[in-house]
Amino acid sequence: MVDAYPFIEERLKEIEEMAKGWPQKLKHELHEEHELELTRQHSFICDGCKESGEVWSFYCRECDFDLLPKCALDKDKETKADAKEEGNTKEGWVCDR
Ligand SMILES: [Zn+2]
Ligand SMILES: [Zn+2]
Repeated sequence: MVDAYPFIEERLKEIEEMAKGWPQKLKHELHEEHELELTRQHSFICDGCKESGEVWSFYCRECDFDLLPKCALDKDKETKADAKEEGNTKEGWVCDR
């Protein structure tokens, strides 16, 4: 008999596992004035690469600054070899009527 999968707990475990080995706090060159704190978020936009993220963010509460773990932990930042450049035009597009 299978009632109610322990789905959520499994998921939570995964989430905890993900963050294993990550620092609770770190400093990053994109946000040098404060430490970023490992924080659980529902969803956020990374202030580094503007991608959306969920679950874990390195976050500065004072500034509402989010960084994806992959961005925050990426020490030697790989050159921006972003294959996908779609949606690039939206930024800076201001309708000023
Ligand atoms: Zn990012
Ligand atoms: Zn800050």
